[in-house]
Amino acid sequence: MTPSRTIVVAGAGIGGLTAALALAAKNFNVLIVEKAQRLEEAGAGLQLSPNASRVLVDLGLRPRLEPAAITPDAVTIYSARSGGELVRLPLGEAAALRAGAPYWVMHRADLQSALAAQLRAHPNIELRLGWQFEEVDSDANGVMVTTRNGLSRAHQQALALVGADGIWSAVRRQLLPDAQPRFSGLIAWRGTFDAGRLPGGAPLTGVQLWMGRNAHLIAYPISAGRRINIVAIVPGTWNRPGWSAPGEPREIKSLFAPPHWPAAAGRMIGAVEGWRRWALFTMPDGGAWVHGAAALLGDAAHGMLPFAAQGAGMAIEDAAVLAQCLGDVTTPEAVPAALQRYATLRQPRVTRVQRTARQNGQIYHLAGAAALARDLAMRALGGQRLLARQSWIYDWRL
Ligand SMILES: Cc1cc2nc3c(=O)[nH]c(=O)nc-3n(C[C@H](O)[C@H](O)[C@H](O)COP(=O)(O)OP(=O)(O)OC[C@H]3O[C@@H](n4cnc5c(N)ncnc54)[C@H](O)[C@@H]3O)c2cc1C
Repeated sequence: MTPSRTIVVAGAGIGGLTAALALAAKNFNVLIVEKAQRLEEAGAGLQLSPNASRVLVDLGLRPRLEPAAITPDAVTIYSARSGGELVRLPLGEAAALRAGAPYWVMHRADLQSALAAQLRAHPNIELRLGWQFEEVDSDANGVMVTTRNGLSRAHQQALALVGADGIWSAVRRQLLPDAQPRFSGLIAWRGTFDAGRLPGGAPLTGVQLWMGRNAHLIAYPISAGRRINIVAIVPGTWNRPGWSAPGEPREIKSLFAPPHWPAAAGRMIGAVEGWRRWALFTMPDGGAWVHGAAALLGDAAHGMLPFAAQGAGMAIEDAAVLAQCLGDVTTPEAVPAALQRYATLRQPRVTRVQRTARQNGQIYHLAGAAALARDLAMRALGGQRLLARQSWIYDWRL
């Protein structure tokens, strides 16, 4: 690869893969190194709102994504306190037309496979699996990136390094060591079940959000409607890093049992075929972005609570903005300023999303009189107005 036009991306998650495609679209050569031997997206479902799907569509991914994606007809919010539906935020085709891009829900693995297939078809991108970022040094030509596979080491001269290596980022640890993730005190339990086992038998055509005392539950269809994805958020002290620790079904069933939870929510919890637990760590508000000719993106920069369903969405937006900022750069000297521009453009928006996600969690978990007031306020506002409150997120364009 010609070093003067090469960018190294560390991490082939959703952020890194999107960044590689966006940078290649600006005529860079991209070397993407991923420490895992195989691309396997952990977890299950993902909501992709129009701000993120628009970027993916612009990168030419619609034909690969559409067959696996579902367009939910609505987000329906339920109160565990009353057991009933509070409000329905209409999505569907009409909302997609208005936003100019779809609202999709899909299996994370389907998104990752689509991104990887697009990337493998690109002549200017090389993906090295089993190679992990080890260290970076700056020099007059940009950066020298060292990667490791077992006992083998490789060195790549490049114009810039992009750290898309997740919440435990090794790039961030070397370059911005003061920025550390913190445990949020919350745990996500995740699982799926066959859509044929849906309680009541009726198909699930949208996203359900159940709000309860100190906990909430999200359910939506994935895998073109064949399976249902469930995420249950509860407080806890178990805080091991990682995405896929097994969860004990009895524990989660007891947390979503009557009298605090209605039978309908409990039946969905009971249908799950295997639980995984995920301790939720977050980066401080504002994130960590740039050091010389290296930039962070996605969870490495701003891992956030998932209660605005925007972690991957922000990683995808980061990738598009980063590529745009680097697009005109022709010399190594111009890279740091271009990366600063990227950070300046991204930081205010991402900080607002981080705060919104945290506030959403607090609202979802209210109890007693405060929950009653919340339920009344949501009913009074209605679905259209609640949806309109998301437009600053969904209407984003590059
Ligand atoms: C319960 C839950 C639900 C969520 N739901 C949504 C949702 O509906 N919508 C949404 O937009 N977001 C959602 N998110 C957030 C989303 O999952 C993350 O924000 C997103 O996956 C981050 O992508 P990333 O590429 O930045 O990091 P990651 O996906 O963590 O990818 C990092 C990659 O880097 C690799 N890596 C690590 N270290 C190295 C190294 N040294 N060298 C090379 N490679 C390395 C890793 O193996 C990994 O492949 C949710 C999160 C949770 C916890």
